[in-house]
Amino acid sequence: MTARTLFEKVWTAHEVLAQTPETPAVLYVDLHLIHEVTSPQAFSVLKSLGLPVRRPERTLATMDHSTPTRTEQVFGEVPIALDAAARQVRELERNAAEFGVELFGMRDSRRGIVHVISPELGATQPGMTIVCGDSHTSTHGAFGALAFGIGSTEVGHVLATQCLLQRKPKTFAVNVEGKLPLGVTAKDLILAIIGRVGVSGGTGHVIEYRGSTIRALSMEQRMTVCNMSIEAGARAGMIAPDDTTFAYLEGRPRAPRGAEWHAAVARWQGLATDAGAPFGASVDIDAATLEPMITYGTNPGMVVPISAPIPRSTGDAAYDKALGYMGFHGGDAMLDKPVNVVFIGSCTNGRLEDLEAAARILKGRKVAPGVHLLIVPGSQQVKREAEKAGLDEIFKSAGADWRESGCSMCLGMNGDTVAAGQYSVSTSNRNFEGRQGVGARTLLVSPLTAAASAVRGRITDPRGLL
Ligand code: SF4
Repeated sequence: MTARTLFEKVWTAHEVLAQTPETPAVLYVDLHLIHEVTSPQAFSVLKSLGLPVRRPERTLATMDHSTPTRTEQVFGEVPIALDAAARQVRELERNAAEFGVELFGMRDSRRGIVHVISPELGATQPGMTIVCGDSHTSTHGAFGALAFGIGSTEVGHVLATQCLLQRKPKTFAVNVEGKLPLGVTAKDLILAIIGRVGVSGGTGHVIEYRGSTIRALSMEQRMTVCNMSIEAGARAGMIAPDDTTFAYLEGRPRAPRGAEWHAAVARWQGLATDAGAPFGASVDIDAATLEPMITYGTNPGMVVPISAPIPRSTGDAAYDKALGYMGFHGGDAMLDKPVNVVFIGSCTNGRLEDLEAAARILKGRKVAPGVHLLIVPGSQQVKREAEKAGLDEIFKSAGADWRESGCSMCLGMNGDTVAAGQYSVSTSNRNFEGRQGVGARTLLVSPLTAAASAVRGRITDPRGLL
């Protein structure tokens, strides 16, 4: 039998109709995650056509993108400040009730960022196809699922049919070997990979992250890596499920139980890429050579090791425009540049391990005067776990702003924004112009680097504070 990759196994198992030169494949979707921002138009189309949701039991809804993070607004003591957000919340409540879709509403203890709650519930499982109207759906690939973002129109297609039209991507192996040095995290690894591959290097491909470094990562770290696959242009990122995956999933509310659990694990063990299976492309990364990474421009591929200077311009107009937006110059050092805002959160780095990493730096220290440190847990469960471990007290003692869960300053739709011209050191995944607010300047980093920079008020190598 032909040796097959993890991607090929999952793709083939979900192919309802194979693609032809003229038509894309029809792919069955196991799990459809929806939220308040990209679902209203899709439900409107269903209503206008008189269609039901095809598989409501395979659809999960939450509220995250535009929801407030202030406790009094989340729990209804005062109205949601932004009218647009309040409307989206009400509309999703109405649509979920009308179409029989399970919704984790504003006050639900299971609510949170869509890519944080599905894994923590055990709804994300190996071998699944998972889609959501959000680019960073690739996060779920950490479990050996084929997971990718779709547009609002496609959200409607999946609601109506539980299927999606897709061209079959090619495969790309990112092989990472060696031990990550102290202070170098999964976020630094994926930023280094994007720096190496480029923001369009993965276009048309599904990346499989492989090698001893990847196998040594926890599930939370694997999610951080897969989350940013889209920033390398890839359709999705995947990691073969292994004992780390099974240990994370076992006992979670939506994971199989008893005999079904054992049968599932046996099935999932067969998903790993077969020896000798060919990939369309590959790169090799030596983890031991990596440093903490930081972006300096307006896409995640404009990234350097934190001790390195900003690369000099070669006369490329787009490069010069990006540096102009950031107020930086080629040859400048990144270290010691002043910081106005620090954001720790998002579906990239808003999980418990990320908050624990930030707390290691912040414990017994203070946020520098004039710096706003906003810490937003990825879900209400992460918030509860962090508070149980006393992390909130560490954060508040340091002078940080500790909030309810949501996407928050990752994209600033809920009013948590960065002012024009200000520098935001952020653990999120996109540093595009205006992503965190009109004119905001975003520098992507790990939670360690974010916390260290908050303490000093300047871009800081966290290794000196560990
Ligand atoms: S945190 Fe950011 S990237 Fe993640 S789901 Fe929310 S908006 Fe999308």
